[in-house]
Amino acid sequence: TTKENNEKEELLDKDRAHLWHHMSPHNDHPHVFVEGKSSWIKDIDGNNYLDGMSGLWCVNIGHGREEVARVAAAQMSKLAFAPLSQSHVPAIELSAMLNEWLQGDYKIFFSNSGSDANEVAFKIARQYFAQTGKGTKYKFISRYRAYHGNSMGAMGATGQAERKVKYEPGGEGFKHAPPPYCYRCPFGQEKGHCKMECAQAIDEMIEWEGEETVAGVILEPVITGGGVIVPPPEYLKEIREICDRRNVLLIVDEVICGFGRSGEKFGHQNFGVEPDIVSMAKGMTSAYAPLSATAVSSHIYEPFKEKGKTNHFRHVNTFGGNPVSCAIALKNLEILEREQLIKQAKDKGKYVTERLAGLTELSLVGDVRTFGLIAGIELVEDKKTKVPASPEKVANVLAMCKKQNILIGKNGDTVPHHNNVITVAPPFVTTKEELDLIVETLYVSIKNANK
Ligand code: PMP
Repeated sequence: TTKENNEKEELLDKDRAHLWHHMSPHNDHPHVFVEGKSSWIKDIDGNNYLDGMSGLWCVNIGHGREEVARVAAAQMSKLAFAPLSQSHVPAIELSAMLNEWLQGDYKIFFSNSGSDANEVAFKIARQYFAQTGKGTKYKFISRYRAYHGNSMGAMGATGQAERKVKYEPGGEGFKHAPPPYCYRCPFGQEKGHCKMECAQAIDEMIEWEGEETVAGVILEPVITGGGVIVPPPEYLKEIREICDRRNVLLIVDEVICGFGRSGEKFGHQNFGVEPDIVSMAKGMTSAYAPLSATAVSSHIYEPFKEKGKTNHFRHVNTFGGNPVSCAIALKNLEILEREQLIKQAKDKGKYVTERLAGLTELSLVGDVRTFGLIAGIELVEDKKTKVPASPEKVANVLAMCKKQNILIGKNGDTVPHHNNVITVAPPFVTTKEELDLIVETLYVSIKNANK
């Protein structure tokens, strides 16, 4: 009706007047979403879209879960806040549950975002070495193409070009090593026929920087936002061995890979390594509330235990680990277990991998990489030269999928290429038929984008 149209126009005007959008501040055509159910989200015009990216790789149990809303309301009525310098029941229960999921002995520090969780990891690592008298170990090694967050330290760890160059200087002491990018090996090697020079490079970097100055290596099990870069199977074990030998902490960023996205509870469990510190966020609540955590191995926690000013970890986060977010996380974990959604993510990931193999026959598809229920399709102009597909072609694929009511993503890095990796990471509840629809729509869109 005209009234509805006018109301909608008013809303869009308000958006343009007041809202600073993430990533694209000047968004003249904001797409306004109003509700979601399972793998679908509906916009203000009533169009339903298949949410092929789970929002931002986070709505893993799917949208519109009434039981989560009920738990949130009940906890809010009972106790909305208590500081974590004291304690409350949902945080206690959740920390115990996280240790079960991690299959380890960790102390859990709660914050609000993935960036927060990584900042906590860096501060704890530095303080750990400062108070155990093991030199001035303050540097962190990350990899190019990795994304670890938006705050100065987490941005410092981020190896992506665009996110770094405009805001430097960020945190001090962040160094970047080449990623384990087998499709475009930084060392000119061929996949499966190498000495894992990418892992050795980290060892050498520690040597060059001086082992006595390096506190940690931070990595995602698989680089997600940087273009779904899956390392050789033994890479993480190799990095673990290097860290042990050099007395450097291994910090694993599970912000995207955690909570079932990888087909296991945590991404690193696919590679048989035990991190010293694990950061997690997104999937912990399936995005029903902001919440993150830094899990710190008990051997790192040990020197923080004794009472005394120097041992005090000087870090407060008002909303971090609030009762409502923790109650939501507990419900989310319960749903993941009850509905066996992690096994589903694994099985559906395998299915998508098989189906996507068909895409490699398209001239625009250079490489297809998957990890659990994450897929990355790298688009190139030429399979031999691997020249990245033009930004227009990548944008075309996204637009054509959107026209068919399927939301997918593009990722990678702006240097030396651009974001030429199409990404798919749907909710774990996405049905086989819906997955088929995504794959088939992708196939047709990629095929037509090259015309
Ligand atoms: N680490 C990784 C791997 C991420 O993908 C992100 C966010 N995309 C972050 C950290 C930062 O999380 P947040 O946006 O919650 O600060």
